[in-house]
Amino acid sequence: MELYELTVHELHEKLVSGETTAREVLDAYYRRIEAVEDRVHAYISLMKETAYAQAEEADRSIREGRIGPLTGVPIALKDICCTRGFPTTCASRILENFRPPYDATVVARLRAAGAVFTGKTNMDEFAMGSSTETSYFGVTRNPWDLERIPGGSSGGSAAAVAADECAAAIGSDTGGSIRQPAALCGVVGMKPTYGRVSRFGLVAFASSLDQIGPFTKDVRDCAILMNVIAGHDPRESTSVPVEIPDYRAFLDRSVEGWKIGIPREYFMEGIDPEVRAAVEGAARALEGSGAKLIEVSLPHTKYCVAVYYIIAPAEASSNLARYDGVRYGFRAEDPRDLLEMYKKTRSAGFGAEVKRRIIIGTYVLSSGYYEAYYKKASQVRALIREDFDRVFALCDVILTPTTPTAAFRLGEKLDDPIQMYLSDIFTISANLAGIPGISVPCGFTGEGLPVGVQFLAPHFEEGRLIQIGSALSTLMPREVRRPRL
Ligand code: GLN
Repeated sequence: MELYELTVHELHEKLVSGETTAREVLDAYYRRIEAVEDRVHAYISLMKETAYAQAEEADRSIREGRIGPLTGVPIALKDICCTRGFPTTCASRILENFRPPYDATVVARLRAAGAVFTGKTNMDEFAMGSSTETSYFGVTRNPWDLERIPGGSSGGSAAAVAADECAAAIGSDTGGSIRQPAALCGVVGMKPTYGRVSRFGLVAFASSLDQIGPFTKDVRDCAILMNVIAGHDPRESTSVPVEIPDYRAFLDRSVEGWKIGIPREYFMEGIDPEVRAAVEGAARALEGSGAKLIEVSLPHTKYCVAVYYIIAPAEASSNLARYDGVRYGFRAEDPRDLLEMYKKTRSAGFGAEVKRRIIIGTYVLSSGYYEAYYKKASQVRALIREDFDRVFALCDVILTPTTPTAAFRLGEKLDDPIQMYLSDIFTISANLAGIPGISVPCGFTGEGLPVGVQFLAPHFEEGRLIQIGSALSTLMPREVRRPRL
């Protein structure tokens, strides 16, 4: 087994026991990156220089017996997380040369836990997309089939973990951007409860929906990363001051007697039969271990995509107003006056999908339309949330497919925004309701593409997701299959 194939907990064990060093581990990862990155393109930038300094510091602290939960472990960061002094582009031309003067709270927490940052991963521009094809820096390919997309918007993070180009990665999820690429790349991805992980230093897309979470090779690693990144942050007003459990305590526990809700609206026509079969296989395996499957209904599910595509663009149009050519990065040359500078900068700095969102968002917030669109959508959002409150009175967790299909081909949906938006049909509801969700691998299609099953839990019950995810992984051990690169 190569060092880069190991999980976070396996690596950490070898580092602590002195069987290997952080430097050796980092060498192994950069060699791996060199070997596969020209095909996968998971990264926008590598942080080699600072990574070796971090690795050296990790080796020193191990020798001195100061061992953090991630000491010496190579982690990749989605390029939407601010890294002090290091480019943070959000995969946009408009931030091409932006170097934040501070670290995001997640970045600071990971640093403090001893992590080594390999680099910044590719994504859809400003996290708007489901395929990582809207990046200004080129597409990322799915390690399982290089002609297919890795999912998005955190496609680079998912692909980096799947291709063993890092031990774990950080992503962000506004409508599915962690869970969907995790499913399509065959790794574990969690979106925590809104308010659980600080968004300080996360470049804002849709502030009432955005959350940061981990991509990992297994559920144990997910628990380890959650222990590090979750928790109250006084610098972030929506971060919730509640106790964080030790998420590892939920591992290796049975789910016997649990009630698993199967929402009928998530198993409708249009879901790929092979995806459906794999997800139903996961449900049956859990049933076989003593959980009870109960049919439930979330009747407002059919409005989720429509509601999301009013609320998310509305918030985005407001958040992205700050990119005016004055305060950040890119500025168009030789404008005649201030107005022309704004126009030229934003026209050249943003890509087509980002512009589409800004236009939609501006429209739904404009006077005369606000009541009809934004206000109405907010009201329906409340109904979607109530659906979950009602159903969680009946069951412990909800089980659904993460995505309606396995990874699609590059270019397949790029010119059809509605089809692209529908890739998140099963993940958007959790963001609208603010509840946590996890995607765990549960099999493969006939063509060998990974399939993920999604579990949803009530607010702040990430522990349940770890518990059921871990139970499922023992029932369906991670296939020894790895992407052939
Ligand atoms: N695909 C969805 C969108 O384009 C969700 C993206 C995300 O979660 N960041 O908005």
